[in-house]
Amino acid sequence: MTQTDTDICIIGAGISGISMAAHIGMICPERSYTILERREQIGGTWDLFRYPGVRSDSDMHTLGFNFEPWRHENAIADGTNILEYLNRIADERGIREYIRFGQEVLSADWDSQRACWTITARGSDGRESVTTARWLYFASGYYDYDNPYDAQIAGIENFGGEVVHPQFWPENLDYAGKDVVVIGSGATAVTLVPAMAESAKSVTMLQRTPTWMGAGPRQDIWSQRFLRWFPETFAYRLTRWKNIALRAYFFGLSRRNPGKVADMLRGRLKDELGSKYDPKHFEPPYNPWQQRLCLVPDGDLFEAMKAGKASIVTDRIAGFDESGIKLESGDRLSADIVITATGLKLVLAGKVEVSLDGEPVEWTDHFFYRGTMFSNLPNLSFVFGYLNASWTLRADSNARYACEVISEMYRRGADVAVPELLPEDEPEPVEPWDYTSGYLNRAKDLMPKVAAERPWTLAHDYLADRRDFVQRPVADGVLRFREAPAVSRESDVNEHEKIAAE
Ligand SMILES: Cc1cc2nc3c(=O)[nH]c(=O)nc-3n(C[C@H](O)[C@H](O)[C@H](O)COP(=O)(O)OP(=O)(O)OC[C@H]3O[C@@H](n4cnc5c(N)ncnc54)[C@H](O)[C@@H]3O)c2cc1C
Repeated sequence: MTQTDTDICIIGAGISGISMAAHIGMICPERSYTILERREQIGGTWDLFRYPGVRSDSDMHTLGFNFEPWRHENAIADGTNILEYLNRIADERGIREYIRFGQEVLSADWDSQRACWTITARGSDGRESVTTARWLYFASGYYDYDNPYDAQIAGIENFGGEVVHPQFWPENLDYAGKDVVVIGSGATAVTLVPAMAESAKSVTMLQRTPTWMGAGPRQDIWSQRFLRWFPETFAYRLTRWKNIALRAYFFGLSRRNPGKVADMLRGRLKDELGSKYDPKHFEPPYNPWQQRLCLVPDGDLFEAMKAGKASIVTDRIAGFDESGIKLESGDRLSADIVITATGLKLVLAGKVEVSLDGEPVEWTDHFFYRGTMFSNLPNLSFVFGYLNASWTLRADSNARYACEVISEMYRRGADVAVPELLPEDEPEPVEPWDYTSGYLNRAKDLMPKVAAERPWTLAHDYLADRRDFVQRPVADGVLRFREAPAVSRESDVNEHEKIAAE
């Protein structure tokens, strides 16, 4: 077996990377691993995003790990609490010592003779280093850390005030007593508006089209009851399953009977907003869950609107002047600060150039396999979370599965595990998802292929995936285990002999 610096190289120390490291510790502790992380801290998303009010928009009982209870009283958690949780787990499980911070992975090349990955990273000092590993695990998230989505807002250069993108929030941005316009209608805008309204003079959310929104409690009373009645781990599991089941039911209902769900959401919005309800700002031209539903924790956005501190304008930008935004309707919004909450730029595999024996890998040539590996790509797996459920549900499943595959590979004395797909057996590709969000539409062309049938799918159904992971064995006849060519074994032996002789 080829000697490598580490058995498993994990790229990224966010939720997915920490999950993989913890699963290695639980399932195959005899395997070594290294995490290469381009930032100087753990946390990924939760370390990068520092805008006011930054929080989860799904409950922490499912955004938290399956192996570690979420203890904070708020189920919808602030970024700082999520960071604390991740850092605590990394310390308690001894994961931190295996993280090499400030290492941006640039490329990874698979050597089929030696059955190993050569991973090149650039350190924060600009120096490049090489790590070899038998397995490559992409926990690098789904968006570009360097560049947000460029919405190309025409004329914004004419604006004389400050323009801020939430991805790069200036530490000392002073918005107290100022007029702020937040351009966007997604989760970030819905979070920012009430948080900034606490001290700004006015905050206006300027949207082109509305988003479906629903108020929900920050705290989960059932979780608190379960904690009184049961031991912590059992209570956590119960809350988790309650939330998984409720979300799956609500999502299914939105797809089966969108009119009913739209009526329900509309009714609740009217109750929340009273005279402030205007369908123009709250009724999107698509069905609920055709795009992600926006959570409004404790109705904070609605409260800020009712208090006259925040407002929503649905219009199109005609241009900018020194101190505001001109709208196509002829109206104008005064602004001291403009926040462009226009979204993320999706990228795959942390922009790492992946190659097989020097041949660049085109992700679009490969099919997803079981939502985590890829047709004909050896010893590599990947996390791309659910669009309709918490990201961590998939991160945990994929980490467990990767550990099972790696264990099986070693158990068989094999060097390679690869989902094999011959060209003549390729299934018909289908759309990777049925969502209309701008950022997902823009990403479709980057995505590996997806079929309608398992195992060549990227399903957005946690319960069905879970059944599949339980029922379908690791050695399912599609995933092939192989030895690396004998010739490389000899050369390895020779290399080792040489080293030993020296
Ligand atoms: C503001 C915001 C709120 C969100 N809220 C939710 C929510 O409530 N629920 C939900 O399910 N999802 C949410 N998401 C999606 C969220 O990104 C995931 O929940 C989750 O945090 C992703 O974890 P990750 O570890 O896979 O990726 P990330 O958090 O993106 O971490 C990836 C890590 O990989 C590192 N990395 C990337 N490329 C390289 C490279 N080339 N070399 C070395 N290191 C690299 C990054 O520096 C980063 O630390 C939210 C996203 C955002 C932006």
